[in-house]
Amino acid sequence: MIIDGKGIAREIREELKVRAAAFEEKSGKKVGLAVVCIGDDPASKVYVRNKIRACEEVGIASHVHALPADTTQEEAERLIARLAVDPAVHGILLQLPLPEHLDKEALFCGIPTEKDADGFSDSNVGRLALNKCGTVSCTPLGVMELLKRYHVTVSGKHAVVVGRSNIVGRPMALLLLNADATVTVCHSRTQNLKEICASADILVVAVGKAKFIQADMVKEGAVVIDVGMDRDENGMLCGDVDFASVQNKAALITPVPGGVGPMTVAMLLSNTLDAAERTLK
Ligand code: NAP
Repeated sequence: MIIDGKGIAREIREELKVRAAAFEEKSGKKVGLAVVCIGDDPASKVYVRNKIRACEEVGIASHVHALPADTTQEEAERLIARLAVDPAVHGILLQLPLPEHLDKEALFCGIPTEKDADGFSDSNVGRLALNKCGTVSCTPLGVMELLKRYHVTVSGKHAVVVGRSNIVGRPMALLLLNADATVTVCHSRTQNLKEICASADILVVAVGKAKFIQADMVKEGAVVIDVGMDRDENGMLCGDVDFASVQNKAALITPVPGGVGPMTVAMLLSNTLDAAERTLK
């Protein structure tokens, strides 16, 4: 069975629309997401455009700040400091990648925990590690939402996460652990990767290599979640999993595109709404 991330994300946006309208009625103002995009990365421009479109659909005001590639650290920090105290802004998103001369960590430190729509701040990551309430990185959160909506039992299952990046693999492993899975995290130094993957009940792949996971690395009946967004030999968008061969073995599998990608944007909106609703409490 193929997981319909696009459809689930649409469903979530409908739910968020209701919550955004309720917030507006209670507070007299719109939920606001500030998007800071620095530089000319073409992929970032597409992602930002998708996020703005999704905000519009749900009724969230997006405040876009597109800065040139030669923006100084001081200018970027000044903007973030202004957004941090702007009452019309409930969530701040700093689009990655940033130009190399900018100190990413210092900029993220300027985003207050309560406005950290991406869940990248040290305090939110710490809360996740301690299994406490906080804002969670959108992509892994989207994966958990897909598992939930497809009624996948996580507790007691062997979940294998391939990739340990700060934005996907690491928080993904923590979320699965917090949901009582037995978690194995694999990375570029892992030995016996094939055997470990083939023992997974739930396999989440975030490596960034086209069709890296082949059918012989997947257990019959496994749930396979492909986070990858890569290009194949013909320049077509594909995932880290060889969908054509693996779909015959998996009980559930996400396609690329139309799997995890749309969920990332939906979770960004959800995190922003959570942040706005917290201001009412
Ligand atoms: P990343 O920062 O480059 O991390 C890749 C991870 O894969 C690293 O932990 C690396 O191990 C591991 N790896 C590399 N080669 C490996 C190998 N041969 N065997 C096992 N592990 C290996 O990438 P990322 O930011 O996590 O993104 C991963 C993929 O997800 C990309 O395709 C990206 O475009 C996609 N993505 C999609 C979404 C979405 O919304 N769908 C969001 C974010 C990312 P080391 O740590 O040892 O180097």
